Amino acid sequence: LTVSITGATGFIGRRLVQRLHTDNHNIRVLTRSKSKAELIFPAREFPGIVIAEEPGWKDCIQGSDGVVNLAGLPISTRWSPEIKKEIKQSRIRVTSKVVSLINDAPDVARPTVLVSATAVGYYGTSETAIFDERSPSGNDYLAEVCREWEATALGANKNVRVALIRIGVVLGKEGGALAKMIPLFNLFAGGPLGSGRQWFSWIHLDDIVNLIYEALTNPSYNGVINGTAPNPVKLAELCERLGAAMGRPSWLPVPDFALKAVLGEGASVVLEGQRVVPTRAKELGFTFKYPTVKEALKAILS
Ligand code: NDP
Repeated sequence: LTVSITGATGFIGRRLVQRLHTDNHNIRVLTRSKSKAELIFPAREFPGIVIAEEPGWKDCIQGSDGVVNLAGLPISTRWSPEIKKEIKQSRIRVTSKVVSLINDAPDVARPTVLVSATAVGYYGTSETAIFDERSPSGNDYLAEVCREWEATALGANKNVRVALIRIGVVLGKEGGALAKMIPLFNLFAGGPLGSGRQWFSWIHLDDIVNLIYEALTNPSYNGVINGTAPNPVKLAELCERLGAAMGRPSWLPVPDFALKAVLGEGASVVLEGQRVVPTRAKELGFTFKYPTVKEALKAILS
């Protein structure tokens, strides 16, 4: 396959590129910075990879078999009013660009699938509800961002298969929330975050990459699919398991302010949280390599 990817230089994108490369697919990296992307994907390691800045995205998308859309300003920062706006606008801007390039492509050059990221923030936060793909959206800012992001991606639906992956907190060694949280656990000897009763809907990096890969290649994957492991945990359990996996007792609570210091207002995703289950992935027969947080953390921290 030939696959064009926005946000390929990010935490999830890098692993996706490695995975596609291993399987001998042709990769086109759509980036804002060619020089940055060339450092991340050196030609000697990724022979044949195409890296394009605008206005080169058009020639990449047209002629691709599939497009994966992952780009967006990271949410785990301090939210000034400008940044808050850019969290939404960056996603809408890139997604509408991708959608119009797909829609404007001549039939012979049009990809067949768009796999577009969104997030479990769509559901809002709750300590009691269980959310699956049929649940309604929440009423906070991140829910609004996800609704508009998804609606924008669905603009390609009349021409191509669209799979929207509502991603949970991705756990991996090289980045994401966990990499930022681990030093805090070292500092505070592990321990619950806030009350610890909040739900944490997570997924291992390998599993989210596999799910995106399946969505690219399997025509049954369409519409909304939650990208979360089958066993979300309460934050208290995550912290206990993290403490155990790091060989540290989990007894001193990590204060909210410390988490906010490293994750900014994006910490709300961890400090408030939601319990999301992957009903569609299960229906589609997707196999999770890491169904429990215990196995996932063991793999990551070993
Ligand atoms: P990263 O933050 O690691 O990477 C996102 C990429 O988006 C960057 O590499 C960059 O690519 C591009 N980007 C950054 N800022 C902007 C901007 N202002 N305008 C346009 N493009 C920008 O993201 P992840 O890999 O962690 O996640 C991928 C997607 O999945 C994101 O949209 C994220 O919101 C979503 N998601 C991630 C979760 C997680 O736990 N990681 C959880 C839920 C959803 P370049 O510089 O090459 O242009």
